[in-house]
Amino acid sequence: MIFSDVELAPADPILGLTDAFKADPRSEKINLGVGIFKDEAGDTPVLASVKQAEAILLAEESSKNYLGIDGVQLYNKVVQELLFGNEHQVLKDKRAVTAQAPGGTGALRIAAEFVVRNTPSRVVWISNPTWANHRSVFETAGLEVKEYAYYDAEQQDLDFSGMLASLADAQPGDLVLLHGCCHNPTGIDLNLSQWQTIADLCFEKSLVPLFDFAYQGFGKGLNEDAAGLRLLAAKVPELLVANSFSKNFGLYNERIGAVTLIADSAETAAVAFSQVKRTIRANYSNPPAHGALIVSTILSRPELRVLWEQELTTMRNRIAEMRTLFVASLKAEGVKQDFSFIERQAGMFSFSGLNKQQVQRLRDEFAVYIVGSGRISVAGMTNANMGAICKAIAAVL
Ligand code: PLP
Repeated sequence: MIFSDVELAPADPILGLTDAFKADPRSEKINLGVGIFKDEAGDTPVLASVKQAEAILLAEESSKNYLGIDGVQLYNKVVQELLFGNEHQVLKDKRAVTAQAPGGTGALRIAAEFVVRNTPSRVVWISNPTWANHRSVFETAGLEVKEYAYYDAEQQDLDFSGMLASLADAQPGDLVLLHGCCHNPTGIDLNLSQWQTIADLCFEKSLVPLFDFAYQGFGKGLNEDAAGLRLLAAKVPELLVANSFSKNFGLYNERIGAVTLIADSAETAAVAFSQVKRTIRANYSNPPAHGALIVSTILSRPELRVLWEQELTTMRNRIAEMRTLFVASLKAEGVKQDFSFIERQAGMFSFSGLNKQQVQRLRDEFAVYIVGSGRISVAGMTNANMGAICKAIAAVL
């Protein structure tokens, strides 16, 4: 017998919360845990641009033949243009190669496994705190995980000097995981001069940035959110990107993302890409088509692209409005503590500063679910539930 001694795995800190939420019989319950966008009605609808692209695909798709190992070719091209813009030197020099991947998670895993199998690098630096799955994905791929300081809990701000002090210990060839924008879970991003400092540091110490880019367009805008990535790509010779369209296209269950590798020459990039494809072949052979066809259809047809950008802007603005309303509503509930930092954060998440006991009380007494670290998914807030959320927070503070 080989299965009887298997140990029960701990519940996933975020998806486990969703299970607990679903099992809660209270009708007034509110889920601010998992990172999915919700509209004012509390729904996560299919975008109109996606529906229109799917109608086109239904009419025009003529085969379900396998894709190549690296996926839909047009998709890989439009992904590069979305990440870097049309004019970036790395694209002109053909130093970037892109393979379709099953979501941002799949892209991270392929990137990590490629590095372990084909390079001397064994260490990845991740921010403290970071998305709960990073450590597990990287360790499972065979990387050693080290942490760099990121969050100053007292100031509720970026601990940039701490970040630099941690990365001073990084060795040549180490990977540095950077959130492209909308840092998860803190909502605090680097500004342009800080990105420049990190670019210089990576260049001088021969560190390899690994961008996790899961929220392009959710912060300030499609191009603004890519500024850090484009700046680093212009400076460092080698870089990896794992991007996801789960959030900005609302394609969560289509599992669609991409892994992009930049090398110091087109020749090196092409050789490295053969090994990226080999890694994919050994994992799932080749990717599914539907999500990639949706994204490439939208990005390559001007009228659909305009519609998608409008929908993305609506999502981004709704989250920003909820941040403002959240801060104002807490004040209106008589909360004295300064929560104005929430308005300065970007993307779906805010680090509220609530401690574990307060988070537990929110859940037990008020059926308001947030992650144990105090991370709140602002995208789950609506005009309708804001009053209840702020009353509950005021009561537990
Ligand atoms: N990276 C970060 C920072 C995320 O927040 C997420 C999803 O929440 C992912 C990666 C994974 O994205 P996907 O669902 O496309 O695998």
